[in-house]
Amino acid sequence: MSKIPPEVIERVKKLREEIEYHNYRYYVLNSPVISDAEYDALMRELKELEEKYPELITPDSPTQRVGFKPAEAFKEVPHAEPMLSLDDAMNEQEVIEFDKRIKRFLNLPEDLEIEYTVEPKIDGLAVELVYENGVFVVGSTRGDGYVGEDVTNNLKTIPSIPLRIKKFEPDAPDIPPRIDVRGEVFMTKEEFERLNQERIAKGELPFANPRNAAAGSLRQLDPSITAKRKLDIFCYGVGKVEGITFKTQWEVLQTLKKWGFKINPLAKLVKGIQEAIKYHHKIEEMRESLSYDIDGVVIKVNDLSLWEKLGTKARSPRYAIAYKFQPTQATTQLIDVVFQVGRTGAITPVAILKPVQIGGVTVERATLHNEDFIKNLDVRIGDWVLVQRAGDVIPQIVMPIKEKRTGNEKEIKFPTHCPICGTKLVKKPGEAIWRCPNTNCYASLIRKILHFASRNAMNIEGLGEKVARDLVDKGFVQNLADLFYLKTEDFMKLPGFAYKKAKNLYEAIQRAKKTTLARFLYALGIRHVGEAMAQLLAEKFKSLDKLMEASTADLMSIPGVGYEVAKSIVDYFRNEENRKMIQRMLDAGLTFEEEEVKPEEKKVDLSGKTFVFTGALKSMTRDQAKELVKRLGGRVTNSVSRNVDYVVVGENPGSKYQRAKALGIKMLSEEEFLKLVGKA
Ligand code: NAD
Repeated sequence: MSKIPPEVIERVKKLREEIEYHNYRYYVLNSPVISDAEYDALMRELKELEEKYPELITPDSPTQRVGFKPAEAFKEVPHAEPMLSLDDAMNEQEVIEFDKRIKRFLNLPEDLEIEYTVEPKIDGLAVELVYENGVFVVGSTRGDGYVGEDVTNNLKTIPSIPLRIKKFEPDAPDIPPRIDVRGEVFMTKEEFERLNQERIAKGELPFANPRNAAAGSLRQLDPSITAKRKLDIFCYGVGKVEGITFKTQWEVLQTLKKWGFKINPLAKLVKGIQEAIKYHHKIEEMRESLSYDIDGVVIKVNDLSLWEKLGTKARSPRYAIAYKFQPTQATTQLIDVVFQVGRTGAITPVAILKPVQIGGVTVERATLHNEDFIKNLDVRIGDWVLVQRAGDVIPQIVMPIKEKRTGNEKEIKFPTHCPICGTKLVKKPGEAIWRCPNTNCYASLIRKILHFASRNAMNIEGLGEKVARDLVDKGFVQNLADLFYLKTEDFMKLPGFAYKKAKNLYEAIQRAKKTTLARFLYALGIRHVGEAMAQLLAEKFKSLDKLMEASTADLMSIPGVGYEVAKSIVDYFRNEENRKMIQRMLDAGLTFEEEEVKPEEKKVDLSGKTFVFTGALKSMTRDQAKELVKRLGGRVTNSVSRNVDYVVVGENPGSKYQRAKALGIKMLSEEEFLKLVGKA
């Protein structure tokens, strides 16, 4: 002992304590607080230290034991043969080493291709089903490998577990007097989603993953609860057997199938370790598409006589290995929380995370579901959190890691008012979701963005309806100023955006920051402020500051501005939220330049003149014509009234033409219009 450095002894002690704690959280409470990958890393470190200093190994070290002792609430069931764990391999190299080790151990030639059965490694919990004369008599969890918990009545609620074994195929062997069948009880991803949605809606904590959900559902004292959770099983082996001898693992699987047990259809027989590795890659590709969770493949020597020869170690057999997939969980830090408003007004808190790689994808955001979820988890800004990503599902925060708290974490404050429209949020009794009752809120934000980006407003190319919706759905934009803060990387997170498209949109927004006061005023979408009014206001006030401070009386002193218009403008600029938004835009670099007037146009002055356009023009688009009128000081409106000076009539004019005629307003042909503006 004297040779072992004291810090190693200390570390080993610490590792054991930690692993024991995590075993308890995982196996007893079904509520782990670290990711499997992190747990595996602790276990590996302990194993390595024990290999280096074998004197440190004790029979109660976690490396020598499986699972956890049965919980007291359950009757104990001893296993006739121990239910062991599996060694794992994280990469090809480790799998090749496993194959070599077997050949060394058995003195087989190095180039011999061993036959293996390969099976998906179901991420559930192991159970043993004891059948006497074909009748299911007792079922138990793995427990500590030697003694499990009696969950017979709970297992009986699983439809795919035969209560009596039958010969479903004529060539099936006779039912033996005793057989212990082993399998993995699991919950489908769909059922897991359903159960968690139900729990979240009730304000309860969801399960971290289908494995924990399955374990929590099976280890219930009341079988009627288990019955409500749709559990399933895949059987993959046998323990104690009387009256029948199997020669291979493949034969075990085929026989179980013929007796009515559910066997995983993806199990396969392969020759040589390279085939097993290929199988792993193929199954990993299928992983997302399967209806249940798997976390690797299990490679087992097929010949059972070799199992005898290879034997087992303290906690795992030598004849099998779990070749794991990339982890789906990681830990990272919660930086902030934003509140997203959905189409139905539902407010969803979204966690902004310090970017972390999970299964080859960078995760930066995760859903926090609702206020109760945040409260139940007791997650805070600044916390280290366990994050999980599976398939296309939105990444989830499984839990905060409270052990890592420094005391500087901040409570997450749920808003009382809608982050988009400011309306007071409401919550129906019995519901966990806060909603914005303003039914127009989501749609109006989309409309505001589209108007803001439109050609005659800020003219942001590439910001159409789909993009606007995606930006709002992702919570990137809750008010127009947010647009000015988006980066190329943000756009790359939208569906259909690669680097180039994202960069183009980013640049279009940067260009739009340099605009004219008139365009900007129009873009804000203030009630009663159309293009012509925006132009008029810009001309008269020349500065945004002055306009923002103008009174109703100041505004009404301008010819063409009535009370309603003036009040709408004053109300808009008095609104604190609007002022903040505008300030944020200015801070982001919004600037106004003088409207440039081309020299030859300078002579023409249309000030005080109001135009209406109807029908198509040949020499320019209608927008260009309107722009031209405005540049020359004129105004453009859409409806014909007595206040209109000219109606410009293009090809196929609409009803405006009739109305202008009825009111006797002066009409201009395209040529006459061009002459008037000095362009003939
Ligand atoms: P394991 O789950 O890695 O492997 C052994 C188990 O695989 C068997 O008991 C069996 O239940 C299962 N299995 C699934 N399909 C199988 C098949 N086709 N053939 C044979 N067996 C199959 O080992 P373990 O000892 O149950 O638990 C260790 C795992 O649990 C590790 O992944 C570890 O990360 C995780 N864990 C995590 C924490 C945590 O705090 N996050 C704590 C403890 C354990």
